[in-house]
Amino acid sequence: MGNSDSISSAGDDPTLRAARLINRLDRLARAEDHRAGLNPAQRDALRFLGLANRFSRSPAALAAYLGATRGTVSQSLIALEAKGYVTREPHPRDRRAVTLGLTAAGRAALQEDAGVTLLADAVAAGVGAEAATLARLLEATLAAAVASNGGRAFGVCRTCRHFRAQAHAGTPRPHHCALLDAPLADAESRAICIEHAA
Ligand code: SF4
Repeated sequence: MGNSDSISSAGDDPTLRAARLINRLDRLARAEDHRAGLNPAQRDALRFLGLANRFSRSPAALAAYLGATRGTVSQSLIALEAKGYVTREPHPRDRRAVTLGLTAAGRAALQEDAGVTLLADAVAAGVGAEAATLARLLEATLAAAVASNGGRAFGVCRTCRHFRAQAHAGTPRPHHCALLDAPLADAESRAICIEHAA
């Protein structure tokens, strides 16, 4: 991986060098995000809705995940609804809340994610078999960043203390969430959740 002026100016401080490299990778990915007529904020909202479980697909959870204001998120969602990518339904348990979803067009736009594809190709070319190690290091870095700004971790069920694997074995939703008292399908247990507790 080559050095740019801004990265080499970090000198011998590996922490600063790593921070600038992460920042530059993010900028390169964001330059790709404008494809398909979406801006980076709209693209981030689509990505979140593709990753989040049914308890977390709300404007408030999206704002928490992105570290964005409710106003910014609201503008992105209005634009995505106008493009036919996102739906907004009444929440099944809370009449004051809404549940967001992806339309078929939204899922198709998510498949053509040029920013993430650029990064995935770069990881494969740059570190190859060390990708799992890089992912673990970045997870630890992200966890520290979220903790320092008081954000929510958004983990998956298998690392959550409320997860009860195979509590309903043999059914379409074999797992159980003890916090929300709800059965979970395999696919749901791999989605990210705002209520996750390590
Ligand atoms: S087990 Fe944890 S991560 Fe999974 S749905 Fe429940 S609270 Fe969310």
